[in-house]
Amino acid sequence: MDFSLTDEQELIRATAREFTDREVIPGAQRRSRDHHFDLELVRKIADQGYLGAIVPRKYGGAGLDYRTYGLLVEEVGRGDSAMRTVISVQTSLVCSVLLKFGTEEQKRKHLPALCSGELLGCFALTEPDTGSDAANQKTRATKVDGGWKINGAKMWISLGNHAGLALVFAQTDPDLQHKGVACFLVDTDQDGFRPSPIEHKMGLNASDTAEIALDDVFAPDDAVLGEVGQGFRVAMTALDSGRFSVASGCVGVCRACLEESVKYSTQREQFGRPIASFQLVQAMIAEMRVRTDAARLLVWRAGWMKDEGLPNTTETSIAKLYASEAAVWCANEAIQVHGGAGYADDHPVERHFRDVRVTTLYEGTSQIQKLIIGRAETGINALT
Ligand SMILES: Cc1cc2nc3c(=O)[nH]c(=O)nc-3n(C[C@H](O)[C@H](O)[C@H](O)COP(=O)(O)OP(=O)(O)OC[C@H]3O[C@@H](n4cnc5c(N)ncnc54)[C@H](O)[C@@H]3O)c2cc1C
Repeated sequence: MDFSLTDEQELIRATAREFTDREVIPGAQRRSRDHHFDLELVRKIADQGYLGAIVPRKYGGAGLDYRTYGLLVEEVGRGDSAMRTVISVQTSLVCSVLLKFGTEEQKRKHLPALCSGELLGCFALTEPDTGSDAANQKTRATKVDGGWKINGAKMWISLGNHAGLALVFAQTDPDLQHKGVACFLVDTDQDGFRPSPIEHKMGLNASDTAEIALDDVFAPDDAVLGEVGQGFRVAMTALDSGRFSVASGCVGVCRACLEESVKYSTQREQFGRPIASFQLVQAMIAEMRVRTDAARLLVWRAGWMKDEGLPNTTETSIAKLYASEAAVWCANEAIQVHGGAGYADDHPVERHFRDVRVTTLYEGTSQIQKLIIGRAETGINALT
């Protein structure tokens, strides 16, 4: 693996950095305080080509490889995890599987609108009683004339209140267990699709999160993504891309916490000198740097394997596990470097701490990542 970036990658990274500094960071505190999901900013992100980064140009995407996609997600993640979540959901959880499992007609119908941001998508796998055990879907899809009727409930669905297209996972035949799950491309503009915002979250205030009641929601036959019975595979494929995206964003959070800590500690004086001159403060900063670099290298390896077409589920889980835990650690430590000042939102580290906490939970908790890695090492599947 070559660690150097091409001229094009350097340019895309520099552009994403400048965009984040200009458009994402300045309003982040206000959006978080106001619990404001900023659709205008989503549109600007789409205009940059970030919502369809890995989608080929012929479907309206930017046609980037995973390593380059990771670079821009790191930059946006450095600014605001809430906005980074929009990119991860739209690009990785929705577009990536439309690309892989969609018919030509499904791709042409949905991908250009998703890439341009005209259409938002959501990924509705989790249910009130189904989280880590994602194969155990309680939502039911029943065959009717010309399509399927879907009944059930989904929980914690990012972008669920604003999405026009929902990837809804449902069980078609409980006897078949995970082999009965199907993924439906659901038009959310129907009475039976009833999202409501989840309020009072710890963080990601500026990201939209929904619980969704599904009451006789209709999906026509041509809205099944992949085959009936292939839904669990669709979900796991989406998560392989999504975990990479989350991990890239977490590298950005590590970096933000490191940069803010360096800035603050070189300016703040105690005992007549900058706190950065104390060895114990430098130790915190050095450890942040080590974890940032280690996380990035694991993310780059996973991206490189994706680009080479190599199996990478384990390596992606390793990157997601390490980068999310590192980001939570760095945010916590950055607050320590800031002292009391880090406990209020005047410094972004307070927001990073609240926002990044979810990354060890969503797209598979850290425990689930360890079971995936453990399965690869031992050959024993603890998840069945
Ligand atoms: C802000 C936010 C946004 C989200 N966005 C989406 C989205 O867009 N789409 C979507 O489908 N979901 C989404 N989720 C849901 C998220 O993916 C789930 O919360 C996550 O998968 C964990 O499921 P759970 O919350 O039901 O926890 P549980 O599965 O109940 O887990 C609780 C605890 O038990 C542990 N545990 C469970 N099983 C095992 C096991 N076998 N071995 C060891 N430990 C275990 C877990 O690691 C965890 O510590 C989101 C969640 C949040 C908070």
